[in-house]
Amino acid sequence: MKKLALHWKILIALCLAFMVGLWANFSTENISEKPTWFYNIHYFSNFFGTLFLNALKMLVIPLVMTSIICGVARVGKDKDFGRLGIKTILFYSLTGLLAVIVGILCVNFIEPGQVEPEIREKMLSGENKIDSGKLEQAFENADNGWKGIFEIFQRMVPQNLFKAAVEGQLLGLIFFSLLFGFFIARLPEKYKSTQLLFWEGLNTTILSVTNLVISFAPYGVFGLVTPTLMKVGVDTIFVMGKFAATVLLGLCIHSFIVLPILLAILAKIDFRKHFRAMFPALLTAFSTASSSATLPVTLNSITNRAGVSKKISSFTLPLGATLNMDGTALFECVVVIFLGQLFGIEMSWVTQSTVVIMALLTSIGVAGIPSASLVAIIVILHAVGFPQSIIATGVGIVFVVDRLLDMSRTAVNVLGDSCAAVIIGKSEGETGYYFGKQNQSK
Ligand code: ASP
Repeated sequence: MKKLALHWKILIALCLAFMVGLWANFSTENISEKPTWFYNIHYFSNFFGTLFLNALKMLVIPLVMTSIICGVARVGKDKDFGRLGIKTILFYSLTGLLAVIVGILCVNFIEPGQVEPEIREKMLSGENKIDSGKLEQAFENADNGWKGIFEIFQRMVPQNLFKAAVEGQLLGLIFFSLLFGFFIARLPEKYKSTQLLFWEGLNTTILSVTNLVISFAPYGVFGLVTPTLMKVGVDTIFVMGKFAATVLLGLCIHSFIVLPILLAILAKIDFRKHFRAMFPALLTAFSTASSSATLPVTLNSITNRAGVSKKISSFTLPLGATLNMDGTALFECVVVIFLGQLFGIEMSWVTQSTVVIMALLTSIGVAGIPSASLVAIIVILHAVGFPQSIIATGVGIVFVVDRLLDMSRTAVNVLGDSCAAVIIGKSEGETGYYFGKQNQSK
């Protein structure tokens, strides 16, 4: 009998998680003391979910370092390195800009902040569902206003590489690995071949461990999504109806119209094939709400399923997982304008342009972890002059629906990175994608 493909298994796991999670949520909705079976399901699914998430996170640092070092050392020549770098940054800026434009258009057109007084009441009373610790932390990290933007760029050069790695600050690690790989390519032949052999060996080993971890993805996805839905449910989405719908519509337009058009025009690629190839990564992003934790799966899907060479993918994807966040940038724009509408704050086109620029800049520095964009949103709200009291209430309101929207925007973040990899790969002369054969690094 033919074995079921991984993406089908993950999809089945996701459907089961929705069924179990929502059933448990609805059937215990009005009970303050939950029955024992509720805690048991929560505990066991959470156990497997956390195990999977930990395994993915465990791989991120060695994978990012070895992939970038090998990728850049392979790119080698100054000319190639510069060309790839410029293409990557240009593409990321283009898709980020398109995403915020989609967000701004949707939020101005739908006006989710213009709500009936009762619904407004309901939104304000949603605060009891907020994890206040998380919210406080977001405020602590964000009270620097514009300075926050410069800090992002400062973090690119960490004082201590190991500390940056321990704290999960990928940006510093990426910068160091880029430099390291760049200078390996310039070593005398004797040293260069030894270094290349060492890092390639390490990279291949980590990739094998990654394959093993990914084979558990269906269980991991079930374990991550079930407890989330048991606690959050989808009812929060309905309370925040118009706002959540605006974000989801924007994300859909970006994923199913904007990116497919770019794939078709720039690389003559049918987006359905691309989606099918990236399915495991997209579903993992949705389940974990973390593009950094999804990176091992994204790298695996883009090389083994889409067929992009390691040379291109190991350069573009780790960069994309930290720098390129289309879904996040779109979300930030929608939130800020929505809160302006909700609290009756005039948002002139000059203010809206500031929001666009800040959303683009802050999305570069947002970490690829759950709810990270709330920090950026606080920075933007400060910068465009929202009073402190409104910022606290406003971010609290958004936090109520954040988890499900976070899962969706993280999937879009990963989709944007993967589109960059295939488009840049094609532009570098790679062919035969999506036919199960990986392009070899030249
Ligand atoms: N969770 C998102 C990511 O990891 C970041 C965010 O928008 O909060 O890509």
